[in-house]
Amino acid sequence: MSRPIIAANFKMNVTAGEMASYAPRLAAAVADIDDVEVVVAPPFTSIDRAARGFGNSAIRLAGQDVSEQPHGAFTGEVSVAMLRELGCRYAIVGHSERRLHEGETDARVSAKALALLAGGMRPIVCVGESLADREQDRTLEVVNAQLRGGLAGVSADQARDLVVAYEPIWAIGTGRTATPELAQEVHGAVREGLQALFGDAGTDVRIQYGGSVKPDNAAALMAQRDIDGALVGGASLDPASFASIVRAASSR
Ligand code: PEP
Repeated sequence: MSRPIIAANFKMNVTAGEMASYAPRLAAAVADIDDVEVVVAPPFTSIDRAARGFGNSAIRLAGQDVSEQPHGAFTGEVSVAMLRELGCRYAIVGHSERRLHEGETDARVSAKALALLAGGMRPIVCVGESLADREQDRTLEVVNAQLRGGLAGVSADQARDLVVAYEPIWAIGTGRTATPELAQEVHGAVREGLQALFGDAGTDVRIQYGGSVKPDNAAALMAQRDIDGALVGGASLDPASFASIVRAASSR
């Protein structure tokens, strides 16, 4: 199995001042774990403070979003180059909250993913069904469509730098997690979708699960064949709880 990737999505939480105390605590808590890639996506305003607080640790930084445009008259947007300059290696694209509140479409998700890849960064592309989709038995259809649309134009070569996060919307921030078996069922379908798109390269794309991952459910999720990591919201806001999720993904 590829190296698991556990990413924290702070959403609109953790000010720069708060980051100054969070970062060294997390760095110390995961310092002995080297078989898991740890990524933190703070709000844009806290990224610089995070970079300084993580110091020489192996923790990677991510943007929570990015513009598909390189520069110019796009008020409120942040470019790939701006994130890179702050030391970000990853950016989340297509999070369900952006799809819902900002009308982000699969076409924009793909444009953002392509901009990141062209700029030497790695996209974490989020897909996931709503409760209504699931109740209508449309989960795999919806997730596959998001996958094909959000990854349109990405080549098999570029797929090596890709991460996909499967996040059932009904499990995000609700305390309601998909069972490991149910998550694996969709992850297996995502794996097949990636192989159909990218051939062998699709086998190596890491697929994270997201949706109320907590210290007490992380190990069972990580034990599933096609679950290669987690995207963690609420439980990442406390460094000790995020570190125990990282530990659950470690083979130590
Ligand atoms: C998320 O925002 O991507 C997420 C999975 O949040 P939570 O862990 O709080 O459900």
